[in-house]
Amino acid sequence: MATAFYPPLRTLLGPGPSDVNPRILAAIGRPTIGHLDPEFILLMDEIKLLLQYAFKTSNPLTLPISAPGSAGMEAAFVNLLERGDKVIVCQNGVFGGRMKENVERCGATAVVVSDEWGTATNLNKVEDALKQHPDASVLAFVHAETSTGVRSDARALAALATQYGCMSVVDAVTSLGGIELDTDGWGLDVVYSGSQKCLSCVPGLSPITFSPKAVERIRQRRTKVQSWFLDMNLIMDYWGAGSRRSYHHTAPVNTLYALHEALLILQEEGLEESWRRHVYHHEALVLGLESMGLRLIVAPHSRLPQLNAVCVPGGIEEAAVRAALLKNYSLEIGAGLGSLAGKVWRIGLMGFACQQRNVMICLSALEETLLSLGADIHPGKASQAAAQYYRS
Ligand SMILES: *Cc1c(COP(=O)(O)O)cnc(C)c1O
Repeated sequence: MATAFYPPLRTLLGPGPSDVNPRILAAIGRPTIGHLDPEFILLMDEIKLLLQYAFKTSNPLTLPISAPGSAGMEAAFVNLLERGDKVIVCQNGVFGGRMKENVERCGATAVVVSDEWGTATNLNKVEDALKQHPDASVLAFVHAETSTGVRSDARALAALATQYGCMSVVDAVTSLGGIELDTDGWGLDVVYSGSQKCLSCVPGLSPITFSPKAVERIRQRRTKVQSWFLDMNLIMDYWGAGSRRSYHHTAPVNTLYALHEALLILQEEGLEESWRRHVYHHEALVLGLESMGLRLIVAPHSRLPQLNAVCVPGGIEEAAVRAALLKNYSLEIGAGLGSLAGKVWRIGLMGFACQQRNVMICLSALEETLLSLGADIHPGKASQAAAQYYRS
């Protein structure tokens, strides 16, 4: 017979979900109320305000989609695109590939600008594509490519989109709360994220924001949005301003308590302070890894502080290391994806997980594990280097 499930206590330093702050886990257990209860509607309004703060936007259409980050991606494309539209898609990892897939499933054409995995989207190539395809109406790119640990220049890409008369669709699933993101300041049109990366909330929600220009485009569609569930024309009546809320779907009430708490925590810390904290602990981690003799695959200027792709040293089977970390230290790190499978580990320092304790645990656990498997690394240096960084 099945019995209650008690998950083991882990330290989550992978590509997400990240460690959830206990305050958020406490919030999710509060009593469920009706999703049209006036008290719940007040909570929805507060969530919208808090999301506007996190995204740095005054867009009225800013809300969490009731599904994970992938649904935010899908919502962006199915709402903006109609058959025959053309989209420039930047691909330098797994998630750009998914954008292309979404564009094509909308019956639109994807013009792919490819860059090598582990490098940022090349602005010159994007500009060339925009020049070559003046009929393109959307530029889509991933701000923080979680599959490789690369940050692309969202501000410059958005400026190119504007210059060539395109709207921008921005994947900020891993960037929101972790690195600078300025929706209004950079003129971004549709930006979506996820609850379980740098917001350190439970998985299952996708915050999204639409600029007034994007809303206009959605309102003026010639054809209906192919997805009923993700049709923003309908969702606007549920999440829209005022108390005239009409039933669309049952909001995940308790998960929204969790998101509200996560966003409160972000606001209490301050967005800029959260960005600084991610850089601060990332630097300690990198110092430790490099002292051990390990190498990051991404060049320093385009590294994401919240996702560190580390080369697996020669002769070491990467999966064995992850399994040992999980078994002996209850510590989760991520594997490489796609063309980087078997070649890298992905160490996340996201949100609540991004703290000194976890950097120190990760360095010593990784060192001990690599030594036990006979890796050729420098012993005894990593923790010292990180500790010295924290002391100074
Ligand atoms: C995690 C992630 C997604 C997908 O989010 P899910 O919540 O897993 O659906 C999309 N894009 C990026 C960059 C991600 O890191």
